[in-house]
Amino acid sequence: MGRLDGKVALITGGACGIGRGHSELFAKEGAKVVITTRKKVVEGTTLAESIKKEGGEATFIKLDVTNEDEWKKVTDEVIKKYGKLNILVNNAGISLAKSIEETSLDEWNWIMNINSTGVFLGIKYAIKAMKKSGEPCSIVNISSIDAMVGEAELPAYCASKGSVRSLTKAVALSCAEAGYNIRVNSVHPGYIHTELTEKEAQDSGMTPAQYFEKVGKMHPLGHIGKPIDIAYVSLYLASDESNWVTGSEFVADGGYITR
Ligand code: NAD
Repeated sequence: MGRLDGKVALITGGACGIGRGHSELFAKEGAKVVITTRKKVVEGTTLAESIKKEGGEATFIKLDVTNEDEWKKVTDEVIKKYGKLNILVNNAGISLAKSIEETSLDEWNWIMNINSTGVFLGIKYAIKAMKKSGEPCSIVNISSIDAMVGEAELPAYCASKGSVRSLTKAVALSCAEAGYNIRVNSVHPGYIHTELTEKEAQDSGMTPAQYFEKVGKMHPLGHIGKPIDIAYVSLYLASDESNWVTGSEFVADGGYITR
């Protein structure tokens, strides 16, 4: 028996990196998975096909998280295809390594639009779809340790992830007070090996090996994480095992912020 049997899960940015880790694990645990991405259509379609070949259920839908019309269409399509939505993982996100003095207003707005407004829209349309079913539902927002500690080179990113942390708590309360069967929590990863950190490695002026060794040492466990390390945290939050957990923040960072 899977830990997500009978549930329908939508994952943004679900075709690569941390999102892909979620899509694969959630399908293995019995969820019908709706993989969404803005650009990676081939990767998303291929991943959905490979999950189906292995006996799972998945579908791919294109979604730019900053586009309200697309959120309306995607949530309607999910209800039409699967009859309900139980789980949303707001995972899509970007990073920008620039100091506050170098960051332009356009760059600030670009980061906030995807990392913060995208999560706001996802929550808004998920609640609309979820409250109809009456079944236990869970929204998992992928924030970052950078919502809790500052990084001098990532001011816009830190601010956007801080907003996800606070929004999670406000929405957890409003869902609880409205009597909806919807829990809302945030997950705060340390450095994870994905395209996002590979780009950071490129921008660092070091070789990827030097960059990942340096960053790995910043984590007391001695290395950076893998997408599956985060997907397992979200699996608990998405499943009914966490049915008394809402408004909470889950750090998975190899001990990074413990120092
Ligand atoms: P990634 O670059 O591998 O994946 C991010 C995904 O988001 C990609 O599929 C990208 O296409 C998608 N995306 C970007 N803009 C989008 C938009 N407008 N609409 C829809 N999709 C969009 O990065 P990742 O490392 O897997 O990051 C996933 C999440 O985890 C992000 O929110 C990131 O901030 C967070 N995070 C990552 C790390 C890390 O070290 N990798 C650490 C903490 C938090």
